[in-house]
Amino acid sequence: MKKIIEAAAKQLGLEQNDYIQFLYPEREICVSIPVMMDDGQIQVFQGYRVQHSSKLGPYKGGIRFHHEVDMDEVRSLAAWMTFKCAVVDIPYGGGKGGVTVNPSKLSISELENLTREFTRKLSPVLGERFDIPAPDVNTNAQIMGWLVCEYSKSVGKPCPAVVTGKPVEQGGSLGRKEATGRGLYKIIKELYNRLGLELKNATIVIQGYGNVGYEVAKLLHEYGAKIIAVSDVCGGYYNKDGLNIPTFYMKSEKPNISNSELLEMPCDILIPAALGNQITEKNAKNIKAKYIVEGANGPVTTDADAILQSKNIMVVPDILANAGGVVVSYFEWLQNLENQKWTIDQVNTNLEKIMFSAFERVYKIHKNKNISMRQAAYIAALERLTRK
Ligand code: GLU
Repeated sequence: MKKIIEAAAKQLGLEQNDYIQFLYPEREICVSIPVMMDDGQIQVFQGYRVQHSSKLGPYKGGIRFHHEVDMDEVRSLAAWMTFKCAVVDIPYGGGKGGVTVNPSKLSISELENLTREFTRKLSPVLGERFDIPAPDVNTNAQIMGWLVCEYSKSVGKPCPAVVTGKPVEQGGSLGRKEATGRGLYKIIKELYNRLGLELKNATIVIQGYGNVGYEVAKLLHEYGAKIIAVSDVCGGYYNKDGLNIPTFYMKSEKPNISNSELLEMPCDILIPAALGNQITEKNAKNIKAKYIVEGANGPVTTDADAILQSKNIMVVPDILANAGGVVVSYFEWLQNLENQKWTIDQVNTNLEKIMFSAFERVYKIHKNKNISMRQAAYIAALERLTRK
């Protein structure tokens, strides 16, 4: 991360004084979260929130629940949010939060207790115009609903705009759940347009079939592209003729390939939409996709990125490709602050406009400077962040 920011700064002819602040988070919060478990015992979990930058607006970024979450991970993810919001030019800074927990081991009431207690611990540093969480890995609208309710209680008034990705009945936006997948789809379409290729002929492999993976699969399938493999934690499902996404129900299928076979499968577009660090220096040399579009945050490590570049595999980076989620979070926040309700068409049209102009800008930098799309995205972001 530091290296890529420094390289982008060099390309822009910036002095260290102009960008050094973006190499450090502004604030890091670490909390202990005592939770009453169903067996009557109190268990204490560790939670984190990193507020990386408020240069362009309030801190913005999701909260993840995962057993491997730690401060280092949250710190990198928070910095990525700063650059992500800057690439798509929305008035937000970057932040991220997480709790070290395996949520599949919790009952629904334990999950609610955990979320509410975490919110109480964080509420002094959150705010509608200060720090605005959202869903991320293993968190969803219901969890955001508990968060907004608990925060509002702690400040004594309703504050719907303090968190995005809420249930629609609690002030959430139409289209927010689908936004990351839809944004990815728009980026893939623009990429194919720019390259003069026909997306209908493309073969697609998707790692991760959660919210993001499913939505992008659905849209690509509707368009006519062939989804030849998808995977979840149980393994991968491959069909050389293409999976029929509308009737494909993962729980009733038996995996027929492993996750690593899926990543290394020949295809046109590989979409890693699961977790970080999936394509590493170990498997990068075996990747046969022509294009990688990052649906997850950080699925390709820095070492792997260099290997892919040497193999002429284009990587469309996370901070551009998966920004659709935070873009519709921004729309949700605007609707809450202005007490409005946008139609799904308004949401999707505005999302597509923003994704289109961000893609165009990054693609032009990539072409003009003959650098990778990732470097180009960091340059586009840094230009905004250092604008005087
Ligand atoms: N967690 C999502 C991301 O990494 C969305 C963040 C948001 O909407 O604030 O981009």
